[in-house]
Amino acid sequence: MQWHRTDAQTLLLRLLRSPCSGVPHDVAAAYAKLALRSGTLLEAIERGDLALPASERDCVLRFARNIRRVRSLDAQPESALRDGIAGAFELAAFEPALEAAEEAGHETELRLTEPQPLEEPAGVAPWQRHFSASALNAYAECRRKWFYRYACGAIEDRGSAASAYGSAFHLALEDFHGEYPRPVAADEAAMRRRIRECITWAFETHRNGFETRVELELQTRRAQRTAQRYVDWLLVQEKEAPFEVLGREVPAELELDGRPFVGYIDRLDRDELSGGVAVIDYKTGNISATPAEYVEKIRTFRDFQLPFYYWARTAAGDRVTRLVLIPLKDALLDVRPVALQVGRNVSAGELERSRERMIALSAELASGETRSFETTRDAAACVYCAYALACASKPPSEAQRFAS
Ligand code: SF4
Repeated sequence: MQWHRTDAQTLLLRLLRSPCSGVPHDVAAAYAKLALRSGTLLEAIERGDLALPASERDCVLRFARNIRRVRSLDAQPESALRDGIAGAFELAAFEPALEAAEEAGHETELRLTEPQPLEEPAGVAPWQRHFSASALNAYAECRRKWFYRYACGAIEDRGSAASAYGSAFHLALEDFHGEYPRPVAADEAAMRRRIRECITWAFETHRNGFETRVELELQTRRAQRTAQRYVDWLLVQEKEAPFEVLGREVPAELELDGRPFVGYIDRLDRDELSGGVAVIDYKTGNISATPAEYVEKIRTFRDFQLPFYYWARTAAGDRVTRLVLIPLKDALLDVRPVALQVGRNVSAGELERSRERMIALSAELASGETRSFETTRDAAACVYCAYALACASKPPSEAQRFAS
């Protein structure tokens, strides 16, 4: 009745998910989720936006037909409207329950079920699957975020243009270094041409990650400019310390105290003079500006990525001498890597402590004893958090703090 009066989409979705709709629960939930994005439930159903088995499709189409029929009914007299709704949704089958509710003195438009007994408080189920440096980074940044993303799988993160930019750039460089494992000045023109082609192809491959064709075009141009600066840097690097690319997207697998850790290393290089191996990570977002800043993150257990790669490659038999982040975000700046020389910028002891911390955190997550997941105190971490809407106890932003 209320939906007929207001035509509110939330009431329609509630009706869809109620037992009266005749639509199986999971199908109703899927269409409700779709409608929250598109805002047009009935049209989505009638277009058949979800591929369903015939019996479920019939249920959902019947629901849409009934809704259209109810919508066409006159609101007055109310009793006729009520009968019309009851007829469309065959509510007679629900009558015994309605009567019982009325006898018990409950309102009949909305009936509450019996409250369920409270569950005994317990820890979150032990984490059984593999660990990764990015999961531990999320845990270090905000425990609640880890809980939403990894323990609940709370919502589907549809990704953003920034993540599509990162994926496309990584793909382009993987392809590029397949052809140019040893960049040399004599190949400069060919390298510049080839990297342009790689960027165009990779961004076209990831075109669905961008909302509009214009955004795709703008981001592709931005990447083209950055890629040329990347070639500038390769040529300087080749002159100062020639290197060979040993691998791209190299799987990193490691057992820490019996628990499996996995990841992928963007690039592995061998220094041609010393024979040492460098672990390279491309970064298309914000990163530490200096080696000292990045080492501080390692020391304070806020970043585990390069230490994890260090231990994975060391276990694989490599002599890892450099850990390098390559910033690829800003098309207006020269590419200036943040490079840590093992033993000089970052000590073996610091890497060992990072390893111990990874073991301790993974043990904590695998224990099943963790009962609460604190929110971060750093409001900056919430700005791009996919769970910000659901997260009731996030810290106030700077603007909110000043306003209060
Ligand atoms: S909104 Fe902030 S506090 Fe909440 S989960 Fe995300 S990062 Fe953590």
